[in-house]
Amino acid sequence: MIRMNHSTHLAVPVFSDTVEGLRAALLTAIDAGATLVEVRLDLCGEITDDDVRTAMTNAPPSAQLLLTYRSVAQGGECEEEDEARLCRIDRLAPWFDLIDVELDTWRSSERHRELVRQALVEPGERPLQSEAPSRRRLILSVHDFRGRPKSMQNDLLECVETPACDIVKIAWSARSVRDCLEAFEILRSCPKPAIAICMGAPGVVSRLLAPRYGAFATFASLDRQQITAPGQLTISELKTTYRWDALNEATSIFGVIGHPVSHSLSPATHNRVFSARGVNAVYTPLDVAPGYEPLKAFLLESESRPSAGFRGFSVTIPHKLHAMRFLQEQGGHIDAIAGRVGAINTLAFDPDGGWRGTNTDYAGALAAITTGLGMSPQRLAGIRATVLGAGGVSRAVIAALVDHGAIVTLSNRTEERMAPMRDEFGIQTAPWERRDASEADLIVNCTSVGMAPDTEATPWTGNAFAGGSVVFDTVYTPEETRLTRDAMGAGATVIRGTAMFAGQAAAQWAFWFGAATGDDAYERATRDAIDACATDANAPTDF
Ligand code: NAP
Repeated sequence: MIRMNHSTHLAVPVFSDTVEGLRAALLTAIDAGATLVEVRLDLCGEITDDDVRTAMTNAPPSAQLLLTYRSVAQGGECEEEDEARLCRIDRLAPWFDLIDVELDTWRSSERHRELVRQALVEPGERPLQSEAPSRRRLILSVHDFRGRPKSMQNDLLECVETPACDIVKIAWSARSVRDCLEAFEILRSCPKPAIAICMGAPGVVSRLLAPRYGAFATFASLDRQQITAPGQLTISELKTTYRWDALNEATSIFGVIGHPVSHSLSPATHNRVFSARGVNAVYTPLDVAPGYEPLKAFLLESESRPSAGFRGFSVTIPHKLHAMRFLQEQGGHIDAIAGRVGAINTLAFDPDGGWRGTNTDYAGALAAITTGLGMSPQRLAGIRATVLGAGGVSRAVIAALVDHGAIVTLSNRTEERMAPMRDEFGIQTAPWERRDASEADLIVNCTSVGMAPDTEATPWTGNAFAGGSVVFDTVYTPEETRLTRDAMGAGATVIRGTAMFAGQAAAQWAFWFGAATGDDAYERATRDAIDACATDANAPTDF
């Protein structure tokens, strides 16, 4: 098996204002798999130099130690003048293998450079874990929390041309996942070891795939409370959800394109199945700014960089129609179901075969309904269904029902949105105020009403569910909605949105890999992902 460049360090920032706290964080980070521990001195409050030395004494040699005392100007919390900051770095340097100094500080005066050079050659208190053990190594760093640094190319060049600089580090707030592709290019072409990080939600993939481009390190936090930069993953997410240790050059990359996507449940679900089935693939959030052009630019760039390994995408709000247009413009293959629904929620890319698109909400809804009713799709013929909502999900649900002979009445708050669907799908419509007037065997909620955080809302004002009727709520955050609770209380059969979510994700797998999993892998993965979310306040909350 070809391995990724796992000389790439897993770097974990640690900080505490007590000697015991700092020592414990150091040991926990190493136990968790850190090969580089970054002591963020600027986040250590009033801790003294002696306390830092005590905490670092006899640190296990399995990890290298990096000292960072970040200035406020570069996103840290140290308010000291550069001179005092560098003197403190110099005093503590003997306990560390590497030091991080900002390029701005380095270039600001000869005196500052002299202090840094001195810190690099201070006799060490531990054997240096370095290729050139005569001195510790210097990371020259550039940070921009507002966006892409305007002088990025010049800054990089200056770091590269500075003899004392061993490792170039650049970190900026990504506007879109496209910034990550630029970070990969920096890593690929930099003549010195480099760290290129895109911060924020759109930058996750730059952290995850850093080893593929030979990065010196990627940063992960001990836990969510100790995240030191926006978008940083925890070690557990990196190692468990994204299987960092198993990623290699041949790993295929899948992901969910949307905006926002940081709370998507899809990575937790797909990665569970990828792991269980032993496929060499990883699935990541891909935040692409709204609008057709950002989507097109990202897809074209991912196509033009085969080394990135992008093979398939889930597509969610606001890009489902953009994905359709992209395939039309690029001559990609739009399958019959996507054409019928009028939106794409799944893309596949094959360097030899080009782009393909489908809509798996159709299959997901159909599977949820037929499983819930305990009948084959053929037996849907003639059942009466009331569908609430006229958005993207509604189109997939209606197409699936109508194609199998159901008699559909659609009701939507905004008349203009549902009117065109009457002729397109050959269905009836009812004014929103009269949505519960017609008899229905099946009621399907395709509105966002009832979704978190407004969980006490319900789209069904009817005072009863006709005896024996079936209620399907496509909303799945929360899993049990007010609508499903009311329906169960009235004796109706309930189908939950999670069933559709699992079904559409399973259909994505089949679209990407050419065959169904053949078992209930996605039901289990969805269940496990939801259970994991229930115990994590910051966990994903939507698709
Ligand atoms: P969408 O295109 O934005 O459509 C939203 C629909 O909700 C529209 O019909 C809208 O009516 C209606 N709506 C919103 N607020 C309303 C309110 N206060 N009262 C009445 N109607 C209201 O969204 P979508 O992509 O179709 O997604 C809809 C829902 O489906 C999501 O919220 C999600 O919970 C669920 N979903 C589930 C899955 C799954 O796998 N289970 C997958 C995707 C989505 P107007 O036209 O009047 O604005």
